[in-house]
This record gives sequence, structure tokens and C-alpha cells, in this order.
Amino acid sequence: RETNTSAAAPAQTASQADARHVLHPWADLSGLGEQTSLIISQAKGVRVRDSAGKTYLDAIGGMWCMTLGYGREELAEAMADQARRMAYYTPFGDLSSEPAARLAERLSQLAPGDLNRVHFTTCGSTAVESAIRIAHYHFAAQGKPAKRHVLSRINAYHGGTYLTQSLSGKDADRTLFQYEADFVHHLSSPGHDPDRSNVSAAEKLQTLLEEMETEILRIGADNIACFIAEPILASGGVLTPPEGYQKATFEMCRKHDILYISDEVVTGFGRLGHFFASEARFGIQPDMIITAKGLTSGYQPLGAVMISDRITDALAKAAPKDKPVFSNGFTYSGHPVACAVALANIEIMEQEDICGHVRDVGPYFIERLRELRDNPIVYTVRGDHLMACVECWTGQDAGPNAANMALAQKVDAYCQDAGLLVRPYENLCIMSPPLIIDRTDIDRIVATLSDALAKAQADLAAGNI
Ligand code: PLP
Repeated sequence: RETNTSAAAPAQTASQADARHVLHPWADLSGLGEQTSLIISQAKGVRVRDSAGKTYLDAIGGMWCMTLGYGREELAEAMADQARRMAYYTPFGDLSSEPAARLAERLSQLAPGDLNRVHFTTCGSTAVESAIRIAHYHFAAQGKPAKRHVLSRINAYHGGTYLTQSLSGKDADRTLFQYEADFVHHLSSPGHDPDRSNVSAAEKLQTLLEEMETEILRIGADNIACFIAEPILASGGVLTPPEGYQKATFEMCRKHDILYISDEVVTGFGRLGHFFASEARFGIQPDMIITAKGLTSGYQPLGAVMISDRITDALAKAAPKDKPVFSNGFTYSGHPVACAVALANIEIMEQEDICGHVRDVGPYFIERLRELRDNPIVYTVRGDHLMACVECWTGQDAGPNAANMALAQKVDAYCQDAGLLVRPYENLCIMSPPLIIDRTDIDRIVATLSDALAKAQADLAAGNI
């Protein structure tokens, strides 16, 4: 009979222990216990090494989060230093820590407009969830509790908690879990790929705006608290809306007194060449911006909602006198060690002009990847600066069908054999390399992907897929 005591457990490799004991986010349940994970045990710069000693160029940058590259001494020092000085203190009520206070100050300098108030959380999901709660509180405090519905989009990804999964709109993720349907509404996916669309960007934009306005009128603006949007949809497949979409949807929200929440968990902190893309790239000053991931360059879990003074002042004024408590937050909100590394991260980003570097190499990355469209199994290549994806197809029907997904998996497997990690998702190879990547490594990514695509195409032609 199996027992649970460690003394009785046989010695296992990390891979076996993982297969036996870990339930991974987005695990394939059909292979639970049998699949062996690739155990990554060391990393430096843009490269990672597995437990067997094989090195890979990490074109996925961890999970969109590794921005300054692995093994930065200054970041490790900042964490160690803070951990020695004071690893933790409660952020609740009127207690705080110096790193959290300093980071909030820095973030408000970097954020557009009057986003001067920072509510720290533990990750992107808790930041998104907090922003929705703030929108609810904001209108309830003005005597409008019915103004609670939320507009999101098909193909959005906003996190892995109950509410943030409900806001997300990826069909493949809608499983046997429960989802909030009462107050969450999904507009159409706004992605527009000029290479593969039979409508112009202007036509697509008009259709999207008409749909949004119709939906607002159907639900009633008096019932809608906020619209949440990634400027470019990341995990949904690197989907770029038509030019002018962000600004026009922002203006529509203003017209109907709907708060605009910009989810910059991926697009922020340099991935599009700016600390925040909302204003610098898309000309909008949202009511709230969500950040996480690149905020600490992935060195520590941390998230934040940046909130406009307009909202926080209104909250403070309208909070009930007998119960003025802002009852949202977490034990590890603004964890001192995480905030210390975020501060060091910002300092290095500025000293090394990482955003300028991304504006320089980003267009080269996309231009080189687009050469891969010559291979017939590439349906399209899309992206913006250092977020990109190659979409595969067998040449029959486009989209995430079984044949296209099998083909993309082959491409990913060939890349992995050749020492390149790209993120397999449905029929897409998604890439978000560390922001410090140079042209030589960009050329390596393209050359390895090109070989992998050629091999997968030969397999397809030989009927082996
Ligand atoms: N928002 C966006 C746009 C994301 O891409 C993600 C994660 O990938 C999240 C929110 C959730 O962040 P986290 O996984 O840190 O909770």
C-alpha cells in the first residue's frame, strides 16, 4: 500500500517528481502522471539550460516576462539586499515598506496622465481582478451599484482566477470549470491581419465599433462599469487591432461613462518599445493600467493596478463614512523583495535604454520573421516589436484544427531539438524573447525556425503528419 511519508518515497529525478506530484497551469489532463516536463535548471542572458545540460535560446522569454535576461547580478543583489534588510512586512492599512513606496512613486512618474495611485498585487490576475473591483466600488460609491457589467473581447487573456478566466475569451480555455456569465460580455476579437483579411482595416474598425456601441446600448450604459482590453492581444495569438481601434474604443467609453482598463501585463515594460504602450503607442490615457511580468523582469511575482487620480479621489470622497475601508489586497501586495527588484529593473532599463533598444531591434525581428512566409506551411506571421507569432497550416483550412495543431507541434519539436524554445499554442509558435536580444540571436531564431518549418513541411508532404 502506498504511503505518503517522504521516508517511504523512492528517490525520484526532478522530472519524475514533477510528473507524479505537480499539477501544472494548463496541464494536459489526458497525460497526467505520464508526461515528463522539460526541467529548466539554469539560465543566463537569453539562454536556458535543462537538467540534462542541453542549452536553448529562449525565444519565449519565460512567459512573456523575462525582459532584462537571466542571471543579472544587480537584480539578484537587489533581492538579496532587501531580503537581508527586511524580507517582509504587512502592507495592510497604514503599514508599508520603503521599496513599495518608492516603486509606487516611480511607476506614477512612468505612467501616462494622472495615474498617480498604485494598488500592488501579487501577479497579473490579481491586478486585473482588483481593477474590476475598483470599477465596481467606484460606481457603487456614487449610488450606481447597477453599473457593474464588464465588456471584454473574444480571444482576450486576463488571467487564471475565476473572474479573470471569465473575462478571458479563448475558446480552447472554456472547459468544465465555471465562468461568470451574469455580468461579463465578450465583444468580437479585434485582431486584423492585413495579409490574410478580405476586408480593409478601416472596414474592420467600423464593424468593431458598431458592434461595441450596439452592445453598450443593449446592456445599457447605466449598467456597464468598465471595458478591459490588452492593447495587442498576447496569449490569444498576438492579435493586433486595426489602426485607431484603441483610441476609438477609449472615446466610446468616455462618451458612455464607462471606465477604460488597459491590460498592459504583456505590452508594458518595454515589449513594444515603451514603459507603457497605452499612450506612447496608442494615444490613450486609460483610467487604470494593469502591469505585472516585465515589472520585475520576471525575477519576482508582482502585479499592480495604476489608477487615475480622478478615480481615487472619487473613491475617497464617496466612501461610506461609517465604513470607509478599501477591502481589497493581499498578504504579499507590494512585497518588499519584489518591489526592490522592480526598482532595480527600472533603473537598469533606463540606464541601458532598453526601450530604445527594443524600438531598434523590434522592427528587425518582425521583418526577419516575415521572411518565413515563403514556406507554404506558414499561414501568416504577425507581431509588433518583440511579440510575434508564426501561424501554421496544412494549406487546407486555417485555424486551430487538429491537423494544423499537429503541424505546429512538429515545428516546435524540431525547434526544441535544435536548441530553440518557442511557445507552442494551438497552431501557433509564439515568441516574446528577452528584450536584450541582439540581431545575431534574432538571426539564429529565424534560421532555426526556417529549418524546423522545412522539416515539418517535408513530413507533411510525405504523409507523416
Ligand atoms: N493579463 C495578460 C494580458 C496576460 O498575458 C496575463 C498572463 O499571461 C495576465 C493578465 C495574468 O497574469 P498572471 O499570470 O501573472 O496572473
